Amino acid sequence: MNSARTAPRRVVALDVGGTYIKGGSLTDGATTLDHTDRWYTRADRGPEAVLETVLSCAAELVERCPDAQAAGIVVPGIVDEESGLAVLAANLGWRGVPVQDWLAEHLDMPVAFGHDVRAGGLAEARMGAGRGCADFLFVPVGTGIAAAAFSRGRALIGAHGRAGELGHVVVRPGGARCHCGARGCLETVASAAAVARRYARATGWHGVSARDVQRRAETGDPVAADIWTEAIEALADALAVAVTLYDPERVVLGGGLARAGEAYLAPLRDALTRRLTFQAVPHLTEARLGDRAGCVGAALLAHDLLEQARVRP
Ligand SMILES: [Zn+2]
Repeated sequence: MNSARTAPRRVVALDVGGTYIKGGSLTDGATTLDHTDRWYTRADRGPEAVLETVLSCAAELVERCPDAQAAGIVVPGIVDEESGLAVLAANLGWRGVPVQDWLAEHLDMPVAFGHDVRAGGLAEARMGAGRGCADFLFVPVGTGIAAAAFSRGRALIGAHGRAGELGHVVVRPGGARCHCGARGCLETVASAAAVARRYARATGWHGVSARDVQRRAETGDPVAADIWTEAIEALADALAVAVTLYDPERVVLGGGLARAGEAYLAPLRDALTRRLTFQAVPHLTEARLGDRAGCVGAALLAHDLLEQARVRP
């Protein structure tokens, strides 16, 4: 029979995003989340209200999983994983919020803290499209674009927790103004939000999603084709830079646009291959864990924390 020490351990996890807070629990060795749920973030209520919501969602999860031994939480923006601080999460209104300490106090259990994209990449590395691959890039393309570079299974964080901001590589100098203050960032051309926005501006038709722009491009809409092609070309420009710097074996594309599968990946692969000279062409593939990657990653961080405590009590 299992002793207490070897019994499977359960953790709860939260992925705090600008629109939703996603939650779930993960048992040691399991590959899928249990107790999954999501709540509206409603960031317009202000940073303190968002924090209150996060704390109550976490408490609700723990109530449903009384055997949980730790919690993991991941947030977007600039995070200091060492000190457990959300340095700047613009879409949550958070500046310098000690998320890790407050959550640990609220739940009275150990809490692991991380960055949403790096955590998503960690989940893909261990359970998804990055499995068996030591060096890979995880690139979720959604409302924004980010990247996490993994080498020998570890994510590159950077000296100030700001590595991987692929969306703010300038690919069209003098182009559209980005919310970061620069012009012509990748995000202004190739994010799902940018594709939809550019199509609305060009045609006057609002409410057409980026996936719809891709479908319209395929069925002969010339405006959609131009905007879609430009998004692919711009992403290939930025990926060529990333491939030159990191030499990944695989590039794992996540987010809503990657769900178009080969309709997205095939032209992107061609455009990237055309740009590379001496570099090895990485294998481009679709992420496997979808929008749960961040939450699974948060749970893995919590399991790692428990494991470290077991090894080094
Ligand atoms: Zn930018």
